[in-house]
Amino acid sequence: MTSEPTALEAYADVAGREVIEQVRQLASRIRDLRVVHVNSTREGGGVAEILHRLVPLMQQLGLAASWEIVMGEESYYRTTKAFHNGLQGTPVQLDEMGLRRFEATVADNADRLRDVLEGADVVFIHDPQPAPLLKLCPNRRGKWIWRCHIDVSHPYRPVWKYLRNIVAGYDASVFSLPAFAQPLPHPEYIVPPSIDPLSQKNMSLSEEEVAETCTRFGIDRERPLLVQVSRFDRFKDPVGVIAAYRQVRSFSPVQLVLAGGSATDDPEGEAILREVRQAAGDDADIHILDLPADAHRTINALQRAADIVVQKSTREGFGLTVTEAMWKGKPVIGGDTGGIRLQVIDHHTGFLVSTPEGAALRIRYLLHHRDKLQRMGEKARQFARESFLLTRQLREYLTIMVALTHDAGERIEIRQT
Ligand code: UDP
Repeated sequence: MTSEPTALEAYADVAGREVIEQVRQLASRIRDLRVVHVNSTREGGGVAEILHRLVPLMQQLGLAASWEIVMGEESYYRTTKAFHNGLQGTPVQLDEMGLRRFEATVADNADRLRDVLEGADVVFIHDPQPAPLLKLCPNRRGKWIWRCHIDVSHPYRPVWKYLRNIVAGYDASVFSLPAFAQPLPHPEYIVPPSIDPLSQKNMSLSEEEVAETCTRFGIDRERPLLVQVSRFDRFKDPVGVIAAYRQVRSFSPVQLVLAGGSATDDPEGEAILREVRQAAGDDADIHILDLPADAHRTINALQRAADIVVQKSTREGFGLTVTEAMWKGKPVIGGDTGGIRLQVIDHHTGFLVSTPEGAALRIRYLLHHRDKLQRMGEKARQFARESFLLTRQLREYLTIMVALTHDAGERIEIRQT
């Protein structure tokens, strides 16, 4: 699903010229740098979403950027999902056999990737799945960065202890929020993720396309619409969203879309989807959409059709779906957790909630105060534009790469334009 590369220049209109100039100046200091990103899926989830857009922009800027993935059998994904759940605070069992298989799988991947990784100047390892690659590349010459996208503010200790051992050897780590940073023996940077305003997921769409998408899924445009877009994952609390919808429903003829899909590195999706279907029962106004990985325009249209976007997660590394909704001028009812707190400024760009009751209360309020809903949506769009666009994240990654590949004494000046 690699989308057409968009020219960097095209971002000036939405993100402003200044950031484009800064990005160009920074990149000129590290031209031809061999940069490799490694994660565990090309499809599904926020990391893949960003890399699809970020890597081509780095290439346009003259960096020799590439993207590799680690792959494994089902047991590998079961263990890495347990890491994910454990890092987000769930007590999970890590069995010896699972850990040994995990390490053996990464070792197999290392055999395939060693040349490119050892030859790279900068390697970004995303999340825990590929993390042991570092020690499997003993002749590495570049700087290795562990890029953690997960909410590790309150990890289940045994899981963090195991992973900390692995990531402590990196040259630097990057977290999405200050609250996620953990004591590690190397420089830590804070870089929130971002969305691409020009991608199929976020570009502007015609009203006809939005209407056509609604017709395709049997959504009535005369009645209010709530939308949550998420992988079917317990931390996204889709069942809690249905509970909130039911409470709103007794006051308003609202409809609900739960649009999801599964990531190839997430083995739990199907079971959660079954639970969600069961919770929805035969309510014709709950639309559970199991979408293919490349349904970007469909998701774009659904987010635009929404009156309110919900992201009622109980844990959330960042929540790109929140940014996507804000960019489309929608107020977001978001779980009071992780990266959602950075984006949903309570009472300004949306509401932070902790329970289905809280979500229902806020949804009812906004549906009855359309002027407030409108104003919140406008603020949300402005905030997303100022803080969470891809060009800002690109600038921060370039800055980190410049810092790691230059001596402390070397002064880098970015000219004001
Ligand atoms: N997404 C998608 N299809 C789906 C579910 C999600 O394209 O069925 C996209 C969504 O639009 C967003 C990303 O996947 O861009 C999810 O990122 P987020 O940070 O919200 O959550 P994660 O899945 O990484 O936990």
